[in-house]
Amino acid sequence: MENQGASEGRENAERRIERLSSHLGARALIKENQLAMVSCAKVMVKFPVSSVVLADYMKGDHKCIEEKIFQYFRDHPELQTPVEIPKDEHRELTMRQLKGLVRDAGIRPLKYLLEDPAQYFAVTEAAGAIDLSLGIKLGVQFSLWGGSVMNLGTQRHRDKYYAAIDNLDYTGCFAMTELHHGSNVQGIQTTAKFDPNTDEFVINTPNEGATKWWIGNAAVHGKFASVFARLILPSEECAHGLDMGVHAFIVPIRDIESHKPLPGVEIRDCGYKVGLNGVDNGALRFHSVRIPRENLLNRFGDVSRDGQYTSSLPTINKRFAATLGELVGGRVGLACGSVGVLKMAVTIAVRYSLLRQQFGPPKQPEISILDYQSQQHKLMPMLASAYAFHFATVYLVGKYADMKKSLDEQVIADVHALSAGLKAYVTSYTAKSLSVCREACGGHGYAAVNRFGILRNDHDIFQTFEGDNTVLLQQVAADLLKQYKEKFQGGTFNVTWNYLRDTMSTYLSEANPVIARREGEDHLRDPKFQLDAFRYRTSRLLHSAAVRLRKHSKTLGSFEAWNRCLNHLLILAESHIESVILARFIEIVNSCKDRNARAVLKLLCDLYALERIWKDIGSYRNVDYVAPNKAKAILRLTEYLSFEVRSVARELVDAFGIPDFVLRAPIGMQSGQYTEYTQFVGF
Ligand SMILES: Cc1cc2nc3c(=O)[nH]c(=O)nc-3n(C[C@H](O)[C@H](O)[C@H](O)COP(=O)(O)OP(=O)(O)OC[C@H]3O[C@@H](n4cnc5c(N)ncnc54)[C@H](O)[C@@H]3O)c2cc1C
Repeated sequence: MENQGASEGRENAERRIERLSSHLGARALIKENQLAMVSCAKVMVKFPVSSVVLADYMKGDHKCIEEKIFQYFRDHPELQTPVEIPKDEHRELTMRQLKGLVRDAGIRPLKYLLEDPAQYFAVTEAAGAIDLSLGIKLGVQFSLWGGSVMNLGTQRHRDKYYAAIDNLDYTGCFAMTELHHGSNVQGIQTTAKFDPNTDEFVINTPNEGATKWWIGNAAVHGKFASVFARLILPSEECAHGLDMGVHAFIVPIRDIESHKPLPGVEIRDCGYKVGLNGVDNGALRFHSVRIPRENLLNRFGDVSRDGQYTSSLPTINKRFAATLGELVGGRVGLACGSVGVLKMAVTIAVRYSLLRQQFGPPKQPEISILDYQSQQHKLMPMLASAYAFHFATVYLVGKYADMKKSLDEQVIADVHALSAGLKAYVTSYTAKSLSVCREACGGHGYAAVNRFGILRNDHDIFQTFEGDNTVLLQQVAADLLKQYKEKFQGGTFNVTWNYLRDTMSTYLSEANPVIARREGEDHLRDPKFQLDAFRYRTSRLLHSAAVRLRKHSKTLGSFEAWNRCLNHLLILAESHIESVILARFIEIVNSCKDRNARAVLKLLCDLYALERIWKDIGSYRNVDYVAPNKAKAILRLTEYLSFEVRSVARELVDAFGIPDFVLRAPIGMQSGQYTEYTQFVGF
């Protein structure tokens, strides 16, 4: 029975390969002994690529800082997080890890954040690889608490707080979210009322719903918080005072020496979470807590000694946008951290899939599970995506650094939308991929020691904090629509959206029936075809969304019209982000000097592009942008490219450069053997 099944399996596989080979015409891959060759893809490696060359090209200058962090933890095994650790111990260990990095290893995240953001984001990715709790705790201390003081405050705040935040003497929190208001930050209710008699602000939690909730560093370690509250000025006309909108204030929450909560500050622990238990999230309530006037972070709005409000920005909305705009660094960090998680998950899954053998042709050795087309289909596009996202986030980090230097309005708008879109897109993708990787590793993927469960739990919330993904994608869509509208009023697109200027006119003409039927490999692997297809889809979605919104607005009003088109708008935003990622990947391929590395990157880029087109093939078919046979050719080529990527999969994951002790999952170790795993259970 079994033999018959295996023989049928072999025949099927042979037929499949034959079909694939004949479809690819001159590129017939496999002639005699097909399965033997499939199961031993090494013999047909066409890309003798060096993982070192690839790693150098990917990481550039930041390899050193990453290596420094890894070396520090390699030298301090007592600081590595064990698989099983209770919450309170985990929190203390995370704090020790952070102090070790800053005070012992000499890593200065706040300095990098302000002077060399690319260095800062490389640090967050490496720290997150050690333990995502560490990456997040670092982000809370330096990007959220430190970043809010440095970016929303002025020189007096920098002078007073920089050094102590940098060396962790002043540990702090970022207290924005309230029990009743998360995504809708403008709805928060905590108040900061100016008292001209004492020259102080009085911070109050007016009701239960205004309790600050989920605040990182609050439950145990924080001494300060940047508290977001409505600034209220006394007014003769209005008994409740004048509401000037949301501002940020530095509020000490614990005594510097004794670390006890200060009078009027109530602190509670948010307790065990699904993941990230090394971060001490807490809840805060304020009862008439008095802080000096200069604790207002006054870059975008200030109050004088006599209670007069001044701002360079004319409206509450503009001030609010400027305030939140300064906080995009957190999103950039999450996008980078999420790519780091994806790289770890793919590395574990690929190494294990190469090692693991199940079934095989009769009387022949079992084959590696990565030789199954289904496994390639699960993991190879994911590997290609990890590369695509890596280069996209490097691009984002570069733009973020430009923005910090130039303060150019167009760059600012561009970075806001791009960071929102990439954060949302990448974290959603990684969250889904973690489950796919777990499943791809079978039962052993379920052992906690093999990391998928921990990574999945820790990473899951990346989709929500620093802006819920669904809300962020709407910001991308809103920005696209704004620019679309301006374009038709004679304006220009921002740098990242520039392509829409050209493709919009292409879209408005009919799909080209000749191109729709071209299905040769050269055509499908032509970056022009791929990018045109991505951009065509975005332009089409943008145009149709604008038309629908206009129509519904007339009867429903703009809020309801937006809601009526919401799914459409989310797809538009994702489509745009995919276009940006692909465009960047194509540039990266073209500028790679090493011939072999370039060939492999091109392979990955093609796989990324064609798999995305295939995933949305319905949209292309609906408008005959892709004829039926072309659609089939795209699928076949995607399968074939996955097969080719498989032959260099090991080198590709090695190029991520994640050392075994960081990866920690025994089934993902470089040795590619079971030894570490069996040792783990005590053999
Ligand atoms: C572990 C953790 C750490 C955190 N750390 C901090 C911190 O240090 N400081 C801090 O201030 N906050 C922190 N937060 C809070 C976090 O930023 C918020 O959870 C986040 O902004 C989302 O808000 P919410 O939870 O209220 O969700 P909601 O805004 O209530 O969203 C719930 C659901 O409604 C949907 N939704 C909401 N609005 C819309 C809309 N307009 N259109 C369509 N769908 C919508 C969302 O997509 C989501 O699925 C943390 C949260 C967690 C869990």
